[in-house]
Amino acid sequence: MAITQPLQLLAPLSGVLLPLDQVPDPVFSSRVIGDGLCIDPTTQTLCAPLSGVISNLQHSGHALSITGEQGHQVLMHIGLDTVNLAGKGFTCLVEEGQQVAAGQPLIEFDADYLAQHARSLLTLMLVVSGEALTGLVTDSVLVEAGQPVLQIEPAGEENGAEPQAEDAEAVFSQPLILANPQGLHARPAALLAQAAKGFAASISLHRREDSANAKSLVSIMALQTVQGDVLQVSAAGEDAERAIQALVQLLASGCGENVRAAAPGLQPAAALDETPGTVLRGVCASPGSAVGQVVQVAEQRLPITECAANPQQEREVLEQALREAVRDLQQLRDNALGEAQEEIFRAHQELLDDPSLLEQAHALIATGKSAAFAWNAAIEATAELFKGLGSSLLAERAVDLADVGQRVLKRMLGLQEHALSLPDQAILIAEQLTPSQTASLDTAKVLGFATVGGGATSHVAILARALGLPAICGLPSWVLSLANGTRILLDADRGELHPDPDPQHLQQLQSQRQQQRLRQRQDLAQAAWPAVTRDGHHLEVTANIASLAEAEQAMSLGGEGVGLLRSEFLYQDRGHAPSPEEQADTYQAIARALGPTRNLVVRTLDVGGDKPLAYVPMDREANPFLGLRGIRLCLARPELLREQFRAILASAGQTRLHIMLPMVSQLAELRQARQLLDDEVRALGLAQRPKLGIMIEVPSAALMADRFAPEVDFFSIGTNDLTQYTLAMDRDHPRLASQADSFHPSVLRLIARTVQAAHAHGKWVGVCGALASETLAVPLLLGLGVDELSVSVPLIPAIKARVRELDLSECQALAARIIDLEDAVQVREYLQQQHVAADSLILEN
Ligand code: PEP
Ligand code: MG
Repeated sequence: MAITQPLQLLAPLSGVLLPLDQVPDPVFSSRVIGDGLCIDPTTQTLCAPLSGVISNLQHSGHALSITGEQGHQVLMHIGLDTVNLAGKGFTCLVEEGQQVAAGQPLIEFDADYLAQHARSLLTLMLVVSGEALTGLVTDSVLVEAGQPVLQIEPAGEENGAEPQAEDAEAVFSQPLILANPQGLHARPAALLAQAAKGFAASISLHRREDSANAKSLVSIMALQTVQGDVLQVSAAGEDAERAIQALVQLLASGCGENVRAAAPGLQPAAALDETPGTVLRGVCASPGSAVGQVVQVAEQRLPITECAANPQQEREVLEQALREAVRDLQQLRDNALGEAQEEIFRAHQELLDDPSLLEQAHALIATGKSAAFAWNAAIEATAELFKGLGSSLLAERAVDLADVGQRVLKRMLGLQEHALSLPDQAILIAEQLTPSQTASLDTAKVLGFATVGGGATSHVAILARALGLPAICGLPSWVLSLANGTRILLDADRGELHPDPDPQHLQQLQSQRQQQRLRQRQDLAQAAWPAVTRDGHHLEVTANIASLAEAEQAMSLGGEGVGLLRSEFLYQDRGHAPSPEEQADTYQAIARALGPTRNLVVRTLDVGGDKPLAYVPMDREANPFLGLRGIRLCLARPELLREQFRAILASAGQTRLHIMLPMVSQLAELRQARQLLDDEVRALGLAQRPKLGIMIEVPSAALMADRFAPEVDFFSIGTNDLTQYTLAMDRDHPRLASQADSFHPSVLRLIARTVQAAHAHGKWVGVCGALASETLAVPLLLGLGVDELSVSVPLIPAIKARVRELDLSECQALAARIIDLEDAVQVREYLQQQHVAADSLILEN
């Protein structure tokens, strides 16, 4: 930017002015960061030396930067080594991104605390954008806060932006782990920026999806890196390779800080190879296990030019690329391995049709941007919006958006979508894999994958399951530093990744797998047998389904009915609501697949929380899991519920129809919904209302089960939500995954209470949450008196087989003991011991 006016900077504090050369810290006295001045303060409030925007505010509150209206960047740093105080002693009065006026108070600090705990109170004001300065007062005098002390001199055009090597392709470094205990704060950031300026290439520093200009101190500080972050350096231009090599070396050495002593437990990338046997833990996205070699998959950055001369031509480029992308997706749909895969690419096609994306892109093209730039900006802005909505499911959809966005971009740039070229026995490691990458994996070579991002409900996880590949997500980011070719064990069932596994562990795992396979074969052969305990008690084993295909599969695997049809999944990813006729057809088809003697439990729309439904627009909520979810949302839009009731009722008579309400927490909700249902039953001239039940997935419903029981026909316990609401732990939180455990005695006590209340009124109780699909939980749930287990379709044979091994009276005694245990770990251990003991008894007999 051309700077035309001189600008006076005000003293940010009162105190004694010192020349920079006297600052006892070479990084400041050498002016590596920038020229400026230093004040030994007598006041305790740092004020703005110029008006502008807070372009960076360090989390620890000891430093901030302001970018003025003419583009000057001024950094203020209170005290020396104050980053180590981790925010103690500082009170920020402003926020990053805020516009501030010259003289406005920015940060208050406790001078006594700093004097005792930091190296020095000397406070720096440095112009980091590189302009020439003139001092307005002599050194060593006392200045007043707000008094003009420095003047930034005007600079010519040539002093503006550095030449960008835009057209050159960017080269990326291997990921590396930041070991600096306080991240890249002013001192290491200054050294890095200084080093980067020594190269002609344009250089960026990346952390996840954020990037910084590596030649700008403020930009690096704005990344707010912390110890353990995984960083990558990229460079474009003739000396790019050299720049990357030098900067990676500098980062690995700590950018002037002693990183080895300061980072116990966290090693720089290269050191990881020295720690075989370290286990990385994440969340299972697709079950199974594999042993293979690490193949790191780095994100591909596309060369995008910002401006274009002819908007009409750019519009045509965009239209053409969109058409081609839709065609590619159609091909992927046609060759899809199954319904799940086909659905995902259909959803991608719909995203390409989104009017707001196109509107945003066209608006940018009209301002002279290239089609690629405009499209990319529209995709990024919308993906950011998805991520910021507080819903893990929407955040996962942002991955789909980015994926489809890249597909179109590649078409525009004339780049081919090519499958990754891989060695044999590859275990892919990535920050995030896209659905397109996952679908095009060569399963002859890929044994599984592990990612930092993603969740168990992501499309990538669904695809992994469809491909039968084991996968883990939510791993710590240092997984990205494992060297290519490292031998690795991916144990997705346990959510564990073992670099350099020892042979004994491998052998143990192999024999376990073999036993499991044998058992699966046996269970499958006996899938049609009823689930009756050794002492003659029948437990109904039904299926959780979300489509007609799953209903059919469930019946073929011995399912005795459907205990949960998650109706919100029938028309997920649709931009418009299905017609009433289409809905009725779907329910009737499922009812016919079950026939007249089996139960079909249709749950009404459970939208909200982590399950948005595209054609039911909802307001943004701060806590969607505690907001308008399930029945609350339906009662707020009674027409939606009435329409669904009518569609479900169309299948009355074809099967043993049950209707179930999700997320009920109050009696009034049940009564209101029942009234709506009764109205529709009457309007259709039906003789009676089908069985009506509620899900027990909110503690209030479990605690009030004795009041609900007389007014319902059945309960079904949703242990997934019941666990998250009882333990106050987000069910999709990767870090809480191991603690948000449905085996927790608090959840088991709520189940016991629900069963007692239901049975006292002659009503049956099912469990349809994931707990029901765990073979370990079967004796416990049986012992607690549960009447039905509605389980994930492929697990029907195993759960039925487990029931057949048990004795009801023993299970009752077991449940009585377990309910008194202290936590989920104890419960699991206890059940495992019983399981082993029972197994050995079976073997002895
Ligand atoms: C549950 O919460 O346990 C349940 C079965 O419902 P969903 O997983 O669909 O929320
Ligand atoms: Mg639920």
